[in-house]
Amino acid sequence: MTQMETALSRFKEALHKIKALNYSSSMLFWDASTGAPKSGADARSQAIGVLSGYQYQLMVNPQMDEDLNVLMANLTALNEQDRVMVMDTKKEYDKMTKIPMDEFQKFNMLISKSSMVWEKAKEQSDFQLFKPYLTEVIDYLLKFAAYRGYEGHPYNLYIGDFEDGMTVDALNTFFDELRERIVPLLKRIADKNKVIDTTFLNRNFPVDLQEKVSKELLAMMGFDLERGLLEESVHPFTMGADIDDVRLTTHYYEDDLASALFSTAHEGGHAIYEQNFDRKYQGTPLASGTSNGFHESQSRIYENNFCKSRSFLNFWFPVLQETFPEQLGDVSADAFYEAINRVEPSLIRIEADELTYSLHIMMRYEIELGLIDGSIKVEDLPQVWNQKVKDYLGIEPPNDAKGVLQDVHWSEALFGYFPTYALGSAYAAQLAHYMSKEIDLDGCLSRGDFEPLTKWLNEKVHQYGALIKPNALIQQITGESLNSKYYCDYLEAKYSALYGLN
Ligand SMILES: [Zn+2]
Repeated sequence: MTQMETALSRFKEALHKIKALNYSSSMLFWDASTGAPKSGADARSQAIGVLSGYQYQLMVNPQMDEDLNVLMANLTALNEQDRVMVMDTKKEYDKMTKIPMDEFQKFNMLISKSSMVWEKAKEQSDFQLFKPYLTEVIDYLLKFAAYRGYEGHPYNLYIGDFEDGMTVDALNTFFDELRERIVPLLKRIADKNKVIDTTFLNRNFPVDLQEKVSKELLAMMGFDLERGLLEESVHPFTMGADIDDVRLTTHYYEDDLASALFSTAHEGGHAIYEQNFDRKYQGTPLASGTSNGFHESQSRIYENNFCKSRSFLNFWFPVLQETFPEQLGDVSADAFYEAINRVEPSLIRIEADELTYSLHIMMRYEIELGLIDGSIKVEDLPQVWNQKVKDYLGIEPPNDAKGVLQDVHWSEALFGYFPTYALGSAYAAQLAHYMSKEIDLDGCLSRGDFEPLTKWLNEKVHQYGALIKPNALIQQITGESLNSKYYCDYLEAKYSALYGLN
């Protein structure tokens, strides 16, 4: 074997072991989220700690360093799959090693403390408690950006961690158009004063029937329940441990039908992505979504573009009525459609409707950017926050718990993550637009026939896993880069019809 072949086989062996350890910690996490006894929390977190220690050792060591250097010098000799794996791993390796170990450990200690303090600050609605920790988190992010190196804005580095190739310039253009079109749209909706009744969604819906409907919906969407699992957890999530072991959760509320159903549709979209990577990537890092934004596009397209569409309700609402005759017997499909899509500016992001959600994300992006470039000071954050909520949503937070303290992300140093939620919806709209040129989308949805849609996504998106990076992938599918045009078009069309705007 040549030096390169030896390096490649050692490299793959290490990745294989890392994947196995990852699989094991995922199972512990799944267990902890879906009903493992609380009393075992310490034992589980110790086990996870040991596993992640081994994972780190397998990734960061002189042999890996040497092998990566050999492979990086021979990239052209590798096949495409190996080349992408080497380049991705090198990026990850640099990220883990350019920051001095002692500072990284101090940072991790800060994060675990700051999340705890954030929880308390939120409980007491007291931003002052959290302020020093957030200040320190941002100092670290700036310091780490200097160690890691970046081009242009330091925020490019952090958005790039979640969305390869995305930049501040591109995001500014994206959110500028969104702001220009969605803020006036929301204003027109508010001026219309249309009253939409949603009370029937809060009648009593037995959990066992909700579970039955959720499983039927998943199967209809194209999720293979033989190779996956649906369970319940406090916060719904999806875990793709392997192509043949994809698990998702939802949360059932007896007095809220929409919550569980559309969580299931959302997580189902993530899960279908995870089940349909090309088998040749199984067990490798390429068996994963290509970016956070793309992953989110798959959940949003099933949840919003498909399942919350008027067309799908032609098929689905009668099914729901049959399952819940007492609760929905006196409701029309139109009334149901309006109720699940009602626009209602609210203070809390995770409770927001599809339209105002994008504005919640936009303001978080503006704030993150300002905190990183110093134009917004941490001490002014509550005022800045409240002003933006007022400007964009026309409402005012009564306190910091319902304002600046509502999200966990910043306490965990997750800067650059929020924008990917909005990018997901925009990718979804762009994909749906191009899909509808090839497939009679409304016709299929009206028959509850997801097969052509899921197949289209399998072929265009899912099969590639992480092989093709997000910008190249959206170019390949739609012939253009991600932009907010289709997303704004979609929102304008949907809500103009729903609210009778001209
Ligand atoms: Zn999601």
